[in-house]
Amino acid sequence: MSAKQNFINGAWTAGSEVGQNINPSNTAEVVGEYARADAAQVSQAIAAAKAASASWRYSSPQARFDALDAIGTEILARKAELGELLSREEGKTLPEGIGEAGRAGQVFKFFAGEALRIVGDKLDSVRPGIDVEITREALGVIGIITPWNFPIAIPAWKIAPALAFGNCVVIKPADLVPGCGWALADIISRSGLPDGVFNLVMGRGSVVGETILNSADVNGVSFTGSVATGKHVAAVCSARGAKFQLEMGGKNPMVVLDDANLDVAVEACVNGAYFSTGQRCTASSRFIVTAGIHDAFVAAVKARLEGLVVGDALKAGTHIGPVVDQSQLTQDLEYIEIGKKEGATLVCGGEQVSRDTDGFYMTPALFTNTTNAMRINREEIFGPVASVIKVKDYDEALAVANDTEFGLSAGICTTSLKYASDFKRKSQAGMVMVNLPTAGVDYHVPFGGTKGSSYGAREQGSYAAEFYTTVKTAYTLPV
Ligand code: NAD
Repeated sequence: MSAKQNFINGAWTAGSEVGQNINPSNTAEVVGEYARADAAQVSQAIAAAKAASASWRYSSPQARFDALDAIGTEILARKAELGELLSREEGKTLPEGIGEAGRAGQVFKFFAGEALRIVGDKLDSVRPGIDVEITREALGVIGIITPWNFPIAIPAWKIAPALAFGNCVVIKPADLVPGCGWALADIISRSGLPDGVFNLVMGRGSVVGETILNSADVNGVSFTGSVATGKHVAAVCSARGAKFQLEMGGKNPMVVLDDANLDVAVEACVNGAYFSTGQRCTASSRFIVTAGIHDAFVAAVKARLEGLVVGDALKAGTHIGPVVDQSQLTQDLEYIEIGKKEGATLVCGGEQVSRDTDGFYMTPALFTNTTNAMRINREEIFGPVASVIKVKDYDEALAVANDTEFGLSAGICTTSLKYASDFKRKSQAGMVMVNLPTAGVDYHVPFGGTKGSSYGAREQGSYAAEFYTTVKTAYTLPV
């Protein structure tokens, strides 16, 4: 098996070492071998991006549209194959993998259009006879660092706007799942972009990530990942004055009120908490349920969970694929023990199970009799685990929902316009869902959170311009 290479200054380049990409549904299967770049190669990629930036920042919007549109077209045409690769390396079910690949294609199509819609303002000066123009300019070189849980969609929603607004890119995908990042780079390499505009450097955070963060030639860093790494990104970038945006963890609440449609609530909760094996930053992990519907809700969720098939991500009929790797599985199982020790009742799931092939399989877990003070309700678990917190009324539900250091997504299931409207207004989250799962968003509108979940400008939609451009104000005295 020959290792897939890094893409630096328009050329495929071997790394200084090679890593194996393992299928979490079948650990005997090596999905592929992927080069790991060393610091010198990352510096070469950054230098190439800086050199290319001199002309790419002034490129025609048509050139940017053509490249991004071609990339989107190829991703959409190959979404079944890319989705299969995604499911094989990350463990999402095949329909989820294909859905995510399709989303990446849509994102490129959207930002192809955005390249044609870069707007500015023209105003009269307060001084007579002078014109004032406000324009958006590319930042320059963008360093992109992405997590393992959305291995094609997150790279897409950072690369596409970076290029659309005239930036050059150096991207480091997660070391655990480099396959989709590489496949995306392969498509991008054939899109007609000049050498150096787009660079892929795979490998470890401590080597590749650190070199990106610390380079004076990287003008902005777009990061998605854990809180701990995000805080480090913030410290390094602030110290050297680079622009940065962070998307990090969540502890997303889903409120279920007595007046909810029970079927809708159960579907939203089960989908939001457990699909994609609960490995979504927007996954619901706290079901905050009022007393009148509590027992019926718990019984219905339990019945639904017991009907879900945990298995090989690529097998037809699987509802929940494996956990991504051994260390994440160990962490998930540890939280099951922590919950029990804290006095929570494990209603179902939370067990490692075996299947035909060796993989990281775990049944979806539901806790009841929990309080919002318990660690299982305060710390991000990032697995198929959720808790029920019983509350007396809407006011208590809102207070509990907001009582968290995170603020990414929050949901409410209710048929009351009054409570839905109030929750939309008072929820301290960046995204609010009514009768819908906390996970699952559109690609043409902003994505991001508040409090400890996010920092900096929003991602996606037209709001992406805030991060990927800088604003210039020009004054002219026509003489
Ligand atoms: P992680 O923080 O371990 O890694 C994220 C990326 O940072 C990886 O590419 C990693 O190699 C890199 N990295 C690690 N150390 C680094 C360093 N010292 N310098 C530079 N880069 C470094 O996160 P993960 O485990 O890959 O992803 C899971 C986390 O991501 C969860 O907390 C989840 O909530 C979060 N997430 C957030 C969002 C969001 O939009 N808010 C979306 C998806 C995932």
